[in-house]
Amino acid sequence: MNINDNFSKLQESYLFASIAKKVKEHSQTHPDKNIIRLGIGDVTLPLAPAVVNAMQNAVLEMGDMATFRGYGEEQGHSFLRDAVCGYYAKKSVAIESGEVFISDGAKSDIGNILDIFSTDNVVLIPDPVYPVYMDTNTMAGREILFMHGNEGNGFLPLPDKNTKADIIYLCSPNNPTGAVYDKEKLKLWVDYARESDAIILFDSAYEAFVRDESLPTSIYQIEGAKECTIEFCSLSKTAGFTGTRCGYTVVPHGLLRGGASLNELWLRRQTTKFNGVPYIVQRGAEAVFSDEGLAQARAGIDYYMENARIIADALTGLGIWFAGGENSPYIWLKCPDGMSSWGFFDYLLERAGVVGTPGAGFGAGGEGFFRLTAFGSRENVIAATQRMKEL
Ligand SMILES: *Cc1c(COP(=O)(O)O)cnc(C)c1O
Repeated sequence: MNINDNFSKLQESYLFASIAKKVKEHSQTHPDKNIIRLGIGDVTLPLAPAVVNAMQNAVLEMGDMATFRGYGEEQGHSFLRDAVCGYYAKKSVAIESGEVFISDGAKSDIGNILDIFSTDNVVLIPDPVYPVYMDTNTMAGREILFMHGNEGNGFLPLPDKNTKADIIYLCSPNNPTGAVYDKEKLKLWVDYARESDAIILFDSAYEAFVRDESLPTSIYQIEGAKECTIEFCSLSKTAGFTGTRCGYTVVPHGLLRGGASLNELWLRRQTTKFNGVPYIVQRGAEAVFSDEGLAQARAGIDYYMENARIIADALTGLGIWFAGGENSPYIWLKCPDGMSSWGFFDYLLERAGVVGTPGAGFGAGGEGFFRLTAFGSRENVIAATQRMKEL
């Protein structure tokens, strides 16, 4: 018996454990200091009433012989897939129900999709970015290339003709940088992928945070994207589903490689290894896409975006460079006075009692940067920015 040796190549993820340890030590030595956390990557507002209502009704249905449901449709219930198609239609994107796959979240699908690709493929991953792309490919033993985000390119790396990759990850709005690709820049990626027969894996978990109407909220708003892209989306950040679990992945019928339909491969993979999301959760997810649900979800996002604006205004006033905040819940700032990511973490914790996330935890390219999130309460955001100004 041999274990998968690739696991030994994974970098230990010390990020959140190290943060927790430092915060705990600080609280022990300063028991009366109130610490404000602007580092969390999780939502804090509760589920919307429309969602709760729909799930309560679904629970009652499951307890009644006449309306009970067992195994559901394999790609997800059609009522939910149709609701997802309706949501795309509002973005002027035509998606068919058979192209939508309902899952328990974007993270699972982003990891699992790799089953349908050869381990010989070379992957191209932005740096800094959500660590899941790198770790899932490391586990599978794929060769990984990085493309670097920096102040110069606004943390939006563009295709390089000299780089040959088969699978390209894009995350827009980006976690952790908050940077969003515009249509022209995304078109460069779509053209590059089509020319080189590569596949783009597009993570749009934060699409609902985009406020600037000229920016794309789906890569399918770019001509030709359906021939080269799989898009992953989630209700986690959009509608507070991080604990409820529901996402959706679009695999267009037109996506063909090596004589095979990727949609058919993914269907085969999912029907073999996955038995779907609970009916009750799918009814809650359907309610997110109703007029009432969308308005309620929007109100929650507006609340977070006002937090982001307050943080951004404070940083502008302090003359600190940052990206994000306008179209994403993340603010990515440059540590002042040339401090390192962890140096600034310690400084902010010790001197202001404010906790953020060191950028170095999202890849080498994140060194010297720092992530603040808008997912806290208004009261805490105001207090934290006040403390930063005083400091
Ligand atoms: C939170 C997040 C997701 C969503 O993950 P779920 O499994 O749906 O909760 C996906 N991608 C990024 C970049 C995220 O930050």
